Amino acid sequence: MKDATIALHHGFKSDPTTKAVAVPIYQNVAFEFDNAQHGADLFNLDVPGNIYTRIMNPTNDVLEQRLAALEGGIAGLAVSAGSAAIHYAIQALTRAGDNIVSTPQLYGGTYTLFAHLLPSFGVEVRFARDDSAEAIAELIDENTKLVYCESIGNPAGNIVDLQRFAEVTHARGVPLMVDNTVATPILCKPIQFGADIVVHSVTKYVGGHGNALGGVIVDAGTFPWADYPEKFPGLNTPEAAYHGVVYTEKFGPAAFIARARTVPLRNTGAALAPMNAFLLLQGLETLALRMERHTDNAIKVAQFLKAHEQVAWVSYAGLPDHPHHELALKYMKGKPSAILSFGLKGGYEAGVRFYDALQIFKRLVNIGDAKSLACHPASTTHRQMNAAEQAKAGVKPEMIRLSVGIEAIEDILEDLQQALRA
Ligand SMILES: *Cc1c(COP(=O)(O)O)cnc(C)c1O
Repeated sequence: MKDATIALHHGFKSDPTTKAVAVPIYQNVAFEFDNAQHGADLFNLDVPGNIYTRIMNPTNDVLEQRLAALEGGIAGLAVSAGSAAIHYAIQALTRAGDNIVSTPQLYGGTYTLFAHLLPSFGVEVRFARDDSAEAIAELIDENTKLVYCESIGNPAGNIVDLQRFAEVTHARGVPLMVDNTVATPILCKPIQFGADIVVHSVTKYVGGHGNALGGVIVDAGTFPWADYPEKFPGLNTPEAAYHGVVYTEKFGPAAFIARARTVPLRNTGAALAPMNAFLLLQGLETLALRMERHTDNAIKVAQFLKAHEQVAWVSYAGLPDHPHHELALKYMKGKPSAILSFGLKGGYEAGVRFYDALQIFKRLVNIGDAKSLACHPASTTHRQMNAAEQAKAGVKPEMIRLSVGIEAIEDILEDLQQALRA
């Protein structure tokens, strides 16, 4: 099936008992065992089935299957937020003394996790000097357990050369983990270019309506974990945290996602609420349609701003003069999602006046909502930083970041026009 069809149908046929067509919300914690043997078989992971919603839930299962199918992976794991998905995916592969290698420009929450929290647990994070594959390759050593990047960076909108990343990481026996939140599998499927693990904040475009947090990990099933028994002991030796199971023996290509579920999620509990899984599935049903409109609107907004005399600069990889335009053509067919940033000639003061005058664009810090959203980092998310720190973080005083929604383009442009006049 094609993406638009998968998003509507994959992983669920009408409910067998009630014939309900919408995915039911299994607002339920524990599931009954037929008898002691059935319970034992479930706990041994010998038969499929449900035990407890912290580990699995039938509503969440549909979201997991659907996103895995869209990404071209073999299995998924849904959790309570994108941040938890990133943390659990890394926790499933690392322990104190290990390192991971990352691109330098990342979503703010991920940067903080990498720069401060993971090191406090003994996992070193090596930030490359830039987002080239060469800079990544230089930092990989025998203790490197994964390489991390965002297919489209949030908020910078930079695009990573996924195929080259996969070449340099695989040459060193290291898996590639890609945050595909901003692109979504509709615009880019990192697994096709060699990614081994894809993580998502489904809070953003997948849910698409700004009403539920969620995260999903997708396992490509491609990385040969069993070939590296010493590098990945958690997957190749008996797991003390789960009945002594050896994940590569029991789950084969799905070893990684099985460990992510039964060790980090089972033991720390950032489980996705079934109600939120339902809302996210509702959003996912129209993802393909929305991304078409999001990207059509984004390029029109970029062109409009670029041609406007009050605008100093526009950064959007869909524009031919952007340094990553070639990468946008290769990985996203020239449609690098709908996040763009720009600056007004009047600097900070003009930026604030423009921002305050917006009427359709919502002033907030989120992306990927069907509604158009705007953020002025210098006065909000990055206001505690001084000018030098802001510059290092890539934030200019006049910079406005837009997440272009799916409203009628005439209304979007009119709102921008009247705010520019203000
Ligand atoms: C928002 C976001 C996250 C974090 O997701 P939450 O669902 O807010 O926890 C991670 N990565 C990217 C690229 C994001 O935009």
